[in-house]
This record gives sequence, C-alpha cells and structure tokens, in this order.
Amino acid sequence: MAKSKASKTRTRIDALRAVIDKECTAPICQQSGTCRHAGEKDAARHMLGRLLAKLKEAAGDEREERARMWAEIYERGYDSHGNTYHQGSKYRAGQSMKERAAGIRADIKMARKVGRAPLVQEGAGLVSQALETYRFDPVGEAPEQIKFRVRIGDGYGSIRIGIDAIPQEWGWIAEEVAYPRETVTRWRRTQALKDLEAELKSIGEAYNADHGSNLYTDLSMKAFYVFIESDDPATLARHARYERERQERRG
Ligand SMILES: [Zn+2]
Repeated sequence: MAKSKASKTRTRIDALRAVIDKECTAPICQQSGTCRHAGEKDAARHMLGRLLAKLKEAAGDEREERARMWAEIYERGYDSHGNTYHQGSKYRAGQSMKERAAGIRADIKMARKVGRAPLVQEGAGLVSQALETYRFDPVGEAPEQIKFRVRIGDGYGSIRIGIDAIPQEWGWIAEEVAYPRETVTRWRRTQALKDLEAELKSIGEAYNADHGSNLYTDLSMKAFYVFIESDDPATLARHARYERERQERRG
C-alpha cells in the first residue's frame, strides 16, 4: 500500500475518539441546550472501553497478571453464602427495558459503523495483528450481511439479541455423526460465531445487575436476562419448510 494512503488511514480507535470528541453544532441541540446525539457518544465511549480493555489484557505484563487475578475473582462474584453480585458498567437503576434495549442497539450500531475503519494501521508486520482482530472486535468484524435484532422478551424479563443471515461457512461446521441406521449432520458453531455471541452477551450484560441471586436456592435477583439467538442451518431449513407448508394450507 502507498504510504500517502496509509498515513490517511484512520484506525478504529481514532474513529471512536472522533465521535466522542466531536462538538455538536446541530442548531436544534444548541437552541435547546441538550444534545440529542449524546446516545451516540455514549455508545462510542462504551465501545472504546471494551476495545481498550481487550487490548490491555492482550498486552499482558506482570501487573496485568495481577489484574487478571482480580478480574477472575470479580467474575466469580459470589460471597461465601452463595449470593452473587454484579453491576454492569452501563447499568442504571430505574432504567426501563426499552432504554436498555435502545442502548444495546446503539452499541451494536456504533460497532458496525466504526468497524469499517481498520483496527490497526496497515503496514509491515501487522498481518498477524490483523488476523487477531476478531478477538478485539467481533461485532465490527462480523460479515457485512449479518443482521442483528434486539428485542424485549415476553414479560419484560429478558432482552433477546438475535443474529440473522449468518453466512453458513463463516458460522457453522457440519459434523457427520454415524448411527447404526443413519448418518445425521450436527452443526457446531465456529470460533468466530462463538466470539461474536460472547461479545453480544457482554454488551447486553453491561446493562444488567445482580443484586444477590443465590446459587444454592436458585433465587434470581438479576435485573433481567440476556439471551443470544442464532439458528443453525438445519433449524433455518425447518423454519422455511414450516413457513412453506403454512402458505400452502392458506392458499
Ligand atoms: Zn447534538
């Protein structure tokens, strides 16, 4: 790549900082005194935080070793009575499920938007870093055709994040399982899809809190549940067949 072009390349971190630092000049915001674009800045801050945390973890020196140990304890998150406590960085008491879902949607949208900027400056020696990008930004790096759905579950007790239009070869590995009478295809998730699901889960859980669920009594004190949904090729084919049959019965 030509040097002049490379030097113009804005990395993903630059792109996020630009959103965060941009002063709003929209007349409507200046007149009212409150910026209506605060949600976008907030989503950019949340993403920059996630990205930097992962990069920091990857840097791993002795101090990080200690930090990881504490992180593990924090992750474990329960006291000796089996009560669990956790508060996500984006959790706000009294926030509605609608607001939480909107926040998650904004986070995903921001990740997709800045995902078009490269994570690292292009140049020699960075190929291996680029290959590791999935680990740092699975949402931004996911194939373009993938669609995300965020909805509130029945009864307002959950938020369901769906992953649609997953390219089969990107997300699934076919495994032939031989039984005495037949061979059945089982679908396993690729590491890339697993990473994407884990990232979406962590985005959702950032809005969650646990005020003392109990491991022994199954008491749940979580604000809500986060479910990640992705259908394997067999499930998609079954749904398509049901839908066809339903249409035929109607027609
Ligand atoms: Zn504004």
